[in-house]
Amino acid sequence: MSDEALRLSFEFFPPKTDEGRLKLAGVRDTLAEFDPDFFSVTYGAGGSTRDNTKNLVKQFNAYDAKAAPHLSFGGDDEATIKALLEEYRLAGVERIVALRGDMPSGVGGSYQLVYANELVAFIRQHFGDAFALEVAAYPEVHPQAKSYDDDVRFLKGKFDAGANSAITQYFYNPDAYFYFMDQCAKVGIDKPIYPGIMPIINFRNLMRFSDSCGADIPRWLRKRLESFEHDAEALRDFGEELVTELCETLLENGAPGLHFYTMNQAEPVARIVKNLGWGE
Ligand code: FAD
Repeated sequence: MSDEALRLSFEFFPPKTDEGRLKLAGVRDTLAEFDPDFFSVTYGAGGSTRDNTKNLVKQFNAYDAKAAPHLSFGGDDEATIKALLEEYRLAGVERIVALRGDMPSGVGGSYQLVYANELVAFIRQHFGDAFALEVAAYPEVHPQAKSYDDDVRFLKGKFDAGANSAITQYFYNPDAYFYFMDQCAKVGIDKPIYPGIMPIINFRNLMRFSDSCGADIPRWLRKRLESFEHDAEALRDFGEELVTELCETLLENGAPGLHFYTMNQAEPVARIVKNLGWGE
């Protein structure tokens, strides 16, 4: 199934402890066997992981593992973001995942989120084509979107501002992605949109996270996962088969590659990627 032309990427979040960092280096080495196009490193709401994200990205680059930092304005001013981007450029970073991000908890008042299209425009204005720019896309609609059409229109705005490609929020219904691709094509989006894939590792965490980010867990799937709640091995095997089939359906029907939300764990993703024929 895997093809040289298909893009493969893995997402991590920056660990907070030395132990976590050490463990992640092992995860990275395991997943590097699949020769991904890049690893991406998330950015905490409001820039809360700014240094951790930056340090991890630099460390990955030093190991020749191409890393792409996620970035949002958070509460920072233009000078701070410009300096951070300059540091990334000098460190050899070639790709940025440009986001609006969310309001950090406990913050209110004058805190103003900057839409992702404005960040993309800002990067293009100050850094030209120094970076490839990824943006986020939502086949099941961003939780704050006023309407489906608005969400697609705003994605178009991110491409018009200079984004090269998009990575989606995760989903388990492939039709949501195919329908979304059709709607994007109708408004003239012709850039690649890579499905974001979430392996199924922990039932409760998945349910909680899906509720907040607007990813739909269909009723039949929820019920099935519920029945495996106290059987980690059965959940793992079911999840592996389900997500492998989802990926196969996506790739067989034109998805240009896959982006995995690894949750900083190698094995669940490695098994799926191996099933798909990568690393052979
Ligand atoms: P935007 O594209 O700016 O959209 C936000 C909302 O506003 C949408 O409802 C949209 O319809 C609307 N909108 C967009 N543009 C405009 C406009 N110009 N005017 C009016 N309305 C507009 N979060 C993190 O905190 N850290 C991460 O590292 C992180 N990585 C992510 C990676 C991926 C691949 C994805 C899919 C999500 C990620 N998120 C991350 C979550 C993301 O930050 C949240 O979903 C956030 O609420 C929206 O960010 P965005 O870049 O999609 O926002």
